[in-house]
Amino acid sequence: MSLVEQALSYVRAISPYQPGKPITELAREMGIPVDKIVKLASNENPLGMSPLARQAVEKAISGIERYPDQFDLIAKVAERCGVAQNQVVLGNGSNDVLDLIARVFLAPGRSAIFAQHAFAVYPLATLSTGAELISTPAKHYGHDLAAMRAAIRPDTRIVWIANPNNPTGNFLPYPEVRTFLDAVPQDVVVVLDEAYNEYLPPAERVDTAAWIEDFPNLVVTRTFSKIFGLAGLRVGYALASADIADLMNRVRQPFNVNNLAIAAAVAALDDHRFVAESYELNRRGMEQLVAGLNHLGLEYIPSHGNFVTFKAGDGAAVNQKLLKQGVIVRPIGGYGLPEWLRVTIGTEPENARFLEALEKAL
Ligand SMILES: *Cc1c(COP(=O)(O)O)cnc(C)c1O
Repeated sequence: MSLVEQALSYVRAISPYQPGKPITELAREMGIPVDKIVKLASNENPLGMSPLARQAVEKAISGIERYPDQFDLIAKVAERCGVAQNQVVLGNGSNDVLDLIARVFLAPGRSAIFAQHAFAVYPLATLSTGAELISTPAKHYGHDLAAMRAAIRPDTRIVWIANPNNPTGNFLPYPEVRTFLDAVPQDVVVVLDEAYNEYLPPAERVDTAAWIEDFPNLVVTRTFSKIFGLAGLRVGYALASADIADLMNRVRQPFNVNNLAIAAAVAALDDHRFVAESYELNRRGMEQLVAGLNHLGLEYIPSHGNFVTFKAGDGAAVNQKLLKQGVIVRPIGGYGLPEWLRVTIGTEPENARFLEALEKAL
C-alpha cells in the first residue's frame, strides 16, 4: 500500500480550502504591478490595521524572545464580553477555535450539521475528525434553522451557524436564533460564529455572550481578522461555558496565539475610533456597491457583513476578466454558487475600480 493510502481515509476525502488569491500571486501571474491590483477577495479591512494595534505590535517586538502570556487578552475579552475569564478561549484566528470545538466533540461515528452555502471551515473542521457532515438545504441562500433542528440525530454533537453568514451575507434575526437554541437538545453544541458581528447595525446586535448562562451548549466565536484589521496576525476567540472552555483548552496548543497578536488584539479592542471609522466606511461602501450592482442590473444577496455576493452569470469567466484588469474578488463555486461572485467592500476608490472593471467584464 502506498504511503498516501495509509493516511486516514476521511482526511484523504477532504477538499482543500481555496483562499482568496494573494495580490503578489496575481502580480506574478499577470505581470501587473502590485500597486495596480485591488484585492476585494478575503473580507479584509480596507483601512488596514488599527493604529493603536500597530503601536502595540511595535512595542511588543521587544520581548519576542519570550513565550506568550495570554492573560491580558483573556482578561480584556472577558471584561468586554461580560463573561468570566475561564469562559474565554483564544485561537490562532477563530478558525483555530472552530477546530478546537470539533476536536473536543467530534470523532468517527458522530455527526455535525451545517447549512448549504455556509462557511467552508465547518466542513473542514468536521471532516478532519472523521465525523459525518450533515448539510441542510439553504433557505434564501441562508441557514434554514427549522431544517437544521430537524436534521439533528442521536449522534449529532455540533451544529455550526454563521451569523452573518459568509459567503452569502445572510443574517438570522436573533429572536430566531434564540428559538432555535430553545429547541435544540442541551447535549448538542451550537456554535454561533459571529465573525462579522461588529458590522451589524447596533439595533440588530444582541449580547449573545449573556445567553451562555441559559444555554451552556452555546459557543460564540469572534475574530480580530475583520473589523479590527488583524487578519495576518491570526487571532480570534470563543466564549463558552467554563466546562466547554476547559475542554477546548486541553486540546489547544499552549502557545497558539503569538506575542504580537496578543498585544495587537488588546490594543485593537480599545481603538473605538478605528472600529467606528471601519463601520462607517463599510456602510457607505455597501451603499456604493449595491447602487452599482443595481445600475448593472445584477441580482445580489442583501448582506450584513463587509462583502456582497452577486450573480455574475458565469462566475469563473467573469472572475478571469476581473483578474486581467487587476481586480481580485472571490469565486464561490466551491460553495455551490458557481454563478455568483463575492466582493469585499473596499475604500470608495477601490469599489469604483471594481464596478468599472465589472461593467467591462460582463
Ligand atoms: C472570516 C471568517 C472567520 C474568521 O476567521 P479567522 O480565522 O478568525 O481569520 C470566521 N468565520 C467566518 C464565517 C468568516 O467569514
